[in-house]
Amino acid sequence: MSKIVIAIDGYSSCGKSTLAKTLAKHLSYAFIDTGAMYRAATLYFMRRGVIDFDSLTEETIENYLNQITIDFRYNETKGFSDAYLNGEYVEDEIRSKAVSNAVSALSQLKAVRTKMVGLQQELGKKKGVVMDGRDIGTVVFPDAELKLFMTADPKVRAIRRFEELQSKGVEMTLEEVMQNLTERDSNDTNRKENPLVQAEDAIVIDNTNITREEQLRIALDLVNERLN
Ligand code: C5P
Repeated sequence: MSKIVIAIDGYSSCGKSTLAKTLAKHLSYAFIDTGAMYRAATLYFMRRGVIDFDSLTEETIENYLNQITIDFRYNETKGFSDAYLNGEYVEDEIRSKAVSNAVSALSQLKAVRTKMVGLQQELGKKKGVVMDGRDIGTVVFPDAELKLFMTADPKVRAIRRFEELQSKGVEMTLEEVMQNLTERDSNDTNRKENPLVQAEDAIVIDNTNITREEQLRIALDLVNERLN
């Protein structure tokens, strides 16, 4: 087998993207951050003044979705891809507090999920991808050759996220970060459409007490097992 699909799911701020990026780099695979796609769509709706996603009619949702294109462009300096919304670089804006607080509400809508899942399946159809999200191993690529489910202690996650946001200049207190993570995890786990659940054949990585290097080694060993 030459190239495989690697699906990485798990709770918010468990280091899914960090692992996915480094794995993709090591394997020369494409890295697809599906959370960035839901965030970019949320930004689009917010820019149109939408505050309450539940109040939208199906027609409005479809209408807005048809106006959205999301793509990833490789950034040589960073060594991985950035998200673009209708051709505009949005990588920083989609990580803002406002988008983080709204994204789970938009992600619950069936039409939104149908559109994103379709795009994601298209992006991964040639294999050779590492895709991270909430429903990759269960819905987007249920036949992925390797499925990882990541988890970590909620306090450790919040501190890591807080430090990451601080380094990017996003002003959020540790309490706000903690609250945002708890709310998103609850919404993502309890929603009707494609909730966050561990795929039966996923391998769990709890990275509370392991380093990034150890985590990468575990994942690379699993990839090699699949490739052989
Ligand atoms: O991965 P990240 O934390 O950036 O994802 C932001 C939000 O996007 C999640 O909290 C979730 O509501 C939504 N999401 C999703 N399905 C995915 C990826 C993200 O519902 N596959």
